[in-house]
Amino acid sequence: MLGNGLLQGLVVTARNFIRSYFDPERLTTVQYPEERVTLPENSRSFPFLVYDGTPDNLRCVACKICEQECPPQCIYIEVERDPKTGKPVRRPRVFDIDYSVCMQCQICAEVCPFDAIKMDQVYELAGTDRFGGMLHDKAALLKSNEYYHQIRPTEADEVDARLSQSKKKVSPPIAKPAAVPPAQPVPPKTDV
Ligand code: SF4
Ligand code: SF4
Repeated sequence: MLGNGLLQGLVVTARNFIRSYFDPERLTTVQYPEERVTLPENSRSFPFLVYDGTPDNLRCVACKICEQECPPQCIYIEVERDPKTGKPVRRPRVFDIDYSVCMQCQICAEVCPFDAIKMDQVYELAGTDRFGGMLHDKAALLKSNEYYHQIRPTEADEVDARLSQSKKKVSPPIAKPAAVPPAQPVPPKTDV
């Protein structure tokens, strides 16, 4: 009796073992890195800076709100200055994020009034050098709006619509002044 039960148990175990290799429903692992699972749109890793068209056309205006709100204070921004006047221009000269400190909370992306910083989905960032590998400067953080659309199409579409609306509000079409007709010569007064 005991031997019969043991045999049945072994058959069940063997059947499960073999099916775990061939039943697609039960294949819970992928052959990484040759195979990768498609990430859900809302998955997030670290922040990046969005630019429109070319990298010099970044959305960030260096307002520093994200730097102030970042809980572990891992964002560092320096405002660019006009070399002639010394006055600040609305662009960051330095924009660093220390990924080794960042806790991926997304607060920077949520507080940015200009939709200039968004959460990436890149996760293969392991390195041996903390300062060289994990401290990301402006050049490393910049990614195009097309890339943003690739990883988060729904959110990026909403942002595009919002930005185009706010541009319309900020810069209403300038009405051309009505053409002033040339002054007509006044006829001389005649006595009746
Ligand atoms: S990313 Fe946004 S919040 Fe941060 S400095 Fe730039 S514009 Fe301001
Ligand atoms: S995700 Fe959070 S911790 Fe990381 S830079 Fe943004 S605000 Fe800071």
